Amino acid sequence: MVLIFIVLVGLSIASFIGSLSYRIPRNISIVTPPSFCISCKKRLKPYDLIPVLSYILLGGRCRYCRSKIPLKYFILELSIPLIYAALYLNIGPGCTFFIYCYLITVLVYLTLVDIDYGAISSYDIIPVYPGGIVLMSFSFLGKLPYIARHYLYGAAAATVLLLISCLIVYIIKKRVPIGVGDLLVIPGVSLHFGMVEVIRIMIFSSIIGILSGFALIYTGKVVRDFKFPMIPFLTAGVLIEILLF
Ligand SMILES: [Zn+2]
Repeated sequence: MVLIFIVLVGLSIASFIGSLSYRIPRNISIVTPPSFCISCKKRLKPYDLIPVLSYILLGGRCRYCRSKIPLKYFILELSIPLIYAALYLNIGPGCTFFIYCYLITVLVYLTLVDIDYGAISSYDIIPVYPGGIVLMSFSFLGKLPYIARHYLYGAAAATVLLLISCLIVYIIKKRVPIGVGDLLVIPGVSLHFGMVEVIRIMIFSSIIGILSGFALIYTGKVVRDFKFPMIPFLTAGVLIEILLF
């Protein structure tokens, strides 16, 4: 019963996050206009907006202009509820479950923006921080089996690792490999974890990033020196850490 509720909440949040990721970077109000097709701009009816189901029933196309609805929105609506359910089964009810759900939701939002624009703004990363700060504060009160220092060390370790790798790339390639948004998101995410966990996340993210990079270059989807969005790989690394360790 709880799982069904979690999946339903996940479906609604996924749909909302999809809308936010389209509207916020384009400076469109998140309230008006109501949901519309991004191709023909026609207002969508409630039955066109049922997460997952509408996409399947419409064959992935707009009811009115038949243009393709980006697959990423379908993957988003499918994955968020599954991630929430997996987190619940893995962590159980409690403060940590809600904070990790929140963190993953923010990271998925940033992933969508990063894939769309190849960069995230400094403002976009602000929502990454509150969860980590709450988790740290709870640890001060002895509500969680960690001490706050544990989280601060994690954030410091990640920032140092990132700066060192940026420096190496800069020395070799004479360019900074990531944007300011990417740089600021790392300490925020790291506040949710201890040092060992953060190092594991960085390793997972790098491996997934490098393998995806090679795969995309090998298949000719991108050329060498293409600027890869970093956030999707970071999100994947965080998910592996939370769900498998
Ligand atoms: Zn349309």
